[in-house]
Amino acid sequence: MSTNLRYELRCRECQTRWGNQPISFCQNCFAPLEVAYDWDRIGKEVSKDKIAGRATNLWRYKELLPLPDNYDGSTPAGFTPLLKAAKLGETVRSRSLYLKNDAVCFPTLSFKDRVVAVALTQARHFGFDVVSCSSTGNLANAVAAQAARAGLKACIFIPADLEPAKVLGTQVYGAQIVRIDGNYDHVNRLCSQIADKHRWGFVNVNLRPYYAEGSKTVGYEIAEQLGWRLPDNIVVPMAGGSLITKIYKAFKELIDLGFVEEKQVKFFGAQATGCSPISVAVKSGRNEIEPQKPQTIARSLAIGNPADGFYAAKTILGSGGWAEDATDPEIVEGMTLLAESEGVFTETAGGVTVAVARKLYVQGRIRPDETTVLCITGNGLKTTDALADKFDTVEPIPPKLAAFEQFLETQFSGARAAGKGAA
Ligand SMILES: *Cc1c(COP(=O)(O)O)cnc(C)c1O
Ligand SMILES: [Zn+2]
Repeated sequence: MSTNLRYELRCRECQTRWGNQPISFCQNCFAPLEVAYDWDRIGKEVSKDKIAGRATNLWRYKELLPLPDNYDGSTPAGFTPLLKAAKLGETVRSRSLYLKNDAVCFPTLSFKDRVVAVALTQARHFGFDVVSCSSTGNLANAVAAQAARAGLKACIFIPADLEPAKVLGTQVYGAQIVRIDGNYDHVNRLCSQIADKHRWGFVNVNLRPYYAEGSKTVGYEIAEQLGWRLPDNIVVPMAGGSLITKIYKAFKELIDLGFVEEKQVKFFGAQATGCSPISVAVKSGRNEIEPQKPQTIARSLAIGNPADGFYAAKTILGSGGWAEDATDPEIVEGMTLLAESEGVFTETAGGVTVAVARKLYVQGRIRPDETTVLCITGNGLKTTDALADKFDTVEPIPPKLAAFEQFLETQFSGARAAGKGAA
């Protein structure tokens, strides 16, 4: 490193270093910036034992993240369960299947709590009073909640057609919502213009390089929870395409630090058929992304012009992985399959991941004996509208034993057989 910094921004293309400031593009060549670290120094400071002795949240990886001195690590985001998924495994014919369950990430039940936790440390460090974002829903919830705790004002930009639970789950924290008549790509363009004009900290615009690093913690945790081993395959839902590239970066850093054995993990990307610019690129063997107009129930993944699409496609193709997409009915089926087999209620994005994983097993791209992790990134209670027509309304019965016995006769035949003799 040219300077004395533990980390700083570096251009992904021309490699120019930019110190630490709220910018996301190289002022020379306009390529995106990412955070580069002084690994010689960090390698001497951190060890697996040190990490293992710390609290079970994402701050346990503090040396590997772009955190300012004196950051406030009091919000215990991250370190979500890694669940062995034996029953789902039976269905898709896998003998070693795991779920990384960010449906229960603290505080707002999606993996976006991770990126916001990191971004807000820098927002405070740079002295922003107002934090903001363009969001497909989960980011809105995470920014609103964590800004409230940090004592920052929040102004959140969303497409007008977002799920009601995600709108309410933003407003409840006292955040100002701005609903935009347009899709996410319109919202995002507007936010870039606002960020040029107002001195606000947009977590996924001018703070984007720092924000994106928060996603690495998904990768660190998976490796640590597997006993400091890497899986053979990982299936990751893609919106802007950042998460998948950052899990790749996390695995590579752990290999370089000597924390895990070197292994070529295959990366599989999952998108909705109605918004699949990255999957389409991968399937045609290209990194170049052709923007789409989103039309899918998986609104949290509905980014038609993904900021990191190029790098996501490159990561997938370079790893020997693949990308697939799932239609709306397949997404709903994925959600119910996961709930019925593993007791995990995920949102539409998780339905995409499960449905895509299923296809990858059928296609033989993922094999039964390989250890595979599915990234479940959000909670089903936020997208109940997707299941609105799925279940029959259960008619009430009188509070009488006879009425119940009749109910049992006529409607609950499977359980009646199972319950016989128990009395
Ligand atoms: C944002 C989001 C993603 C994808 O994140 P990117 O880094 O933009 O690709 C996946 N799942 C859920 C639930 C999300 O909210
Ligand atoms: Zn550059």
